[in-house]
Amino acid sequence: MSEDTPHPQTHFLSMKLRREPYPEKGGYGIVAASPIRRGEIICVWGGRIVNRAEVDTLGDVERSYVLQIEDGLFLFAPGPAEHAEYVNHSCSPNAGFAGQISLVALRNIRPGEEVCFDYAMSESSDFAEFDCRCGAPDCRGRVRADDWKRADLQHRYRGHFSPYLQRRIDALGEPLPQVARVRSAGTRASRRRTSVLVAAPAT
Ligand SMILES: [Zn+2]
Repeated sequence: MSEDTPHPQTHFLSMKLRREPYPEKGGYGIVAASPIRRGEIICVWGGRIVNRAEVDTLGDVERSYVLQIEDGLFLFAPGPAEHAEYVNHSCSPNAGFAGQISLVALRNIRPGEEVCFDYAMSESSDFAEFDCRCGAPDCRGRVRADDWKRADLQHRYRGHFSPYLQRRIDALGEPLPQVARVRSAGTRASRRRTSVLVAAPAT
């Protein structure tokens, strides 16, 4: 069955977007056909919830359409790919998550701009790693399963990670700059305690 064969839609994709060929990214990309305002819904993905064992039975192309939504759980849409499945990665994205399956604009997007999110916002599995040639000035060169641990990305995408990754980040503690502030406050407090202890035997 060709991907143009009519079939019930699994995903929602904003009417303001269209699919265009992006051969340098291995196929297609999603482009704004009219202005999109910050916060607008780009797409909402649907499909079947599958575990890692089932993901491992998929071919490379099918697996590239899988979206991780929880620890050990993935969203997969069997059947012909729909346009909503062609949202590419960028290391300098203009879209991010609002919940597990919805993508929203992170800023105003002009007509003709490709809509991309950073796969670090949702993916944390080895099979999702790839060498990146997104063309962004700050391209990481390789998208890795543990990119969500990077303090710079945690700061940049705060509020727009998939919720399961945000929970992991929250469990790690605050991002680095705030950890540094807490540490210096702790050092001052322990110095004060030390001086009290030294003074104590004299009283
Ligand atoms: Zn990149």
